[in-house]
Amino acid sequence: MRPSSNEENSGIEFSRVERILALGMVLFLLVGGAWVFNRIQRLPARPDYHAIERRHISAELQSAYWQAQNTLNAAQVAAGRVREELSVAATEYEFRREEFRVMNERGILDPVREQAYKEALTTFERLRGEIGVAMAVEESARTRLQPLAEQWKALQAKIGEEQHRANVAFEWQLFVFRMLYAVPVLALALLLFQLLRRRGSTYLIFATALIAAATLQLLYLVSLYSWHFLRDVAQVAIAILGTVMCMAGIVMIRRYWFHPERVLRTRVRRGQCFSCGAPAENNVYCPACGEELQKRCLGCGQNRPVKAAFCPHCRYQ
Ligand SMILES: [Zn+2]
Ligand SMILES: [Zn+2]
Repeated sequence: MRPSSNEENSGIEFSRVERILALGMVLFLLVGGAWVFNRIQRLPARPDYHAIERRHISAELQSAYWQAQNTLNAAQVAAGRVREELSVAATEYEFRREEFRVMNERGILDPVREQAYKEALTTFERLRGEIGVAMAVEESARTRLQPLAEQWKALQAKIGEEQHRANVAFEWQLFVFRMLYAVPVLALALLLFQLLRRRGSTYLIFATALIAAATLQLLYLVSLYSWHFLRDVAQVAIAILGTVMCMAGIVMIRRYWFHPERVLRTRVRRGQCFSCGAPAENNVYCPACGEELQKRCLGCGQNRPVKAAFCPHCRYQ
């Protein structure tokens, strides 16, 4: 494999293929992490919404409430029917009365029409009596339902509150369980990274992939729950967290890539002044900052770079 031109701090080089495989490793680790997240969802007991409802509303109240509600519905339907009949009867009565009056005025005697007028009047008056009764029944049903309905509404509000609390408690438990998985994984990854780096292991990239996967996992978890718990401030929370994470990343990269030792070695390799980075060629003193770049070797007496580990002429250390 062709070594990449990027040199790591520890002197380990990774090929492009190795980097791609490491990225694949991150993806597969995340697939596994998603599976674990799903499994953890089964750990805490889900809130029993029906039990909460049963605890607040007794069977007696429930049946009394539904009964009163049904009675009112039936009374409303009955009153509606009578009202309709009354409206029809009123039209009929007015028509028959007019008919009868006109004939009376003309002095015509028509017993059939008179009979029809009287019947219409009787029906109209009977229905007027019935609508009074139906409305009284409806009113009494309404009066009976009202205190029950108020009690019902208050209890439903209390139940809703308690169900919401139970749900929040469940989500918190889930969050804690998932954190108990995600945080140690990241800690282990960091530990592994430290261990491999200290040993100068060529498999440092494994730990790097694991850190990337664990960090993404944790970020996902935090963003998921910050949305759930901090609904109002989620955006600000994500903004702050994201900024802090990116700053931490920059600080880490600075420490890693711009470590003084690393910078110094890079400059020497490129033939620059180790102190200021200006092109130095084989100058004894840096033309830019005046730093001494070459000095007499104690082994062979020739000039050698100040920061070189070995004299290039006689290998004197
Ligand atoms: Zn210089
Ligand atoms: Zn020498």
